[in-house]
Amino acid sequence: MRILISNDDGYLAPGIIALANVLGQFAEVVVVAPDSNRSGSSNSLTLDRPLRVQRASNGFYYVNGTPSDCVHIALTGLLDKKPDLVVSGINNGQNMGDDTLYSGTVAAATEGYLFGISAIAFSQVAHGWAEIDSAARIAAEIVHKRFVGMQPPFLLNVNIPNLPYEQIKGMRATHLGKRHYAEPVIRELDPRGNEIFWIGPPGATKNAGVGTDFHATSDGYVSITPLQVDLTHATQLAVLKESLA
Ligand code: MN
Repeated sequence: MRILISNDDGYLAPGIIALANVLGQFAEVVVVAPDSNRSGSSNSLTLDRPLRVQRASNGFYYVNGTPSDCVHIALTGLLDKKPDLVVSGINNGQNMGDDTLYSGTVAAATEGYLFGISAIAFSQVAHGWAEIDSAARIAAEIVHKRFVGMQPPFLLNVNIPNLPYEQIKGMRATHLGKRHYAEPVIRELDPRGNEIFWIGPPGATKNAGVGTDFHATSDGYVSITPLQVDLTHATQLAVLKESLA
């Protein structure tokens, strides 16, 4: 089995190192990841400058681009052989609910999925890498699962509580929850007296009910959400057709 690994925290992040180590025990892995932290970069591609691919002493490829750039480059020329699976992460912090739209971690997996390859994005719920070995072990178990009946390619978004392996209660199939609007932007002055803005933190959860990713992880379970990319609003489309008739 060949696995392409990327992330959005950069090729030096503990999460991608743990993931490459654990998957490398049973698969042929190639790591192509951003050279620095590109969290929040969503699905952006770099079109206004050339990209350079360099190789670290541990064999990881690193790129002066986004997570989507990395997977795109890997699948359209860098790799000799197409991987069987694309995985992303393990991210430093959760990607649940609407956050998935902004996530570079989810985007790296999505890029694989758009090329027709099954893909899985892994995130730890809390920042700081606590219990990263436990999360890596869970990630390996999920990669091993055959997901009988799921039509490939599939795109899975996985969030793992920062708990010791023995304390994780199991895995739950979930749908994305919802958050309230983000907190207000933070307005400050720089040392020269010019106004600057920091994007504020995400809002509190709005729908964290039973069946959501938020609910499963807060209950001590690993959350697995199957994602799709078509943003078409089917019911609105029907109404729109009516109104144009
Ligand atoms: Mn990140």
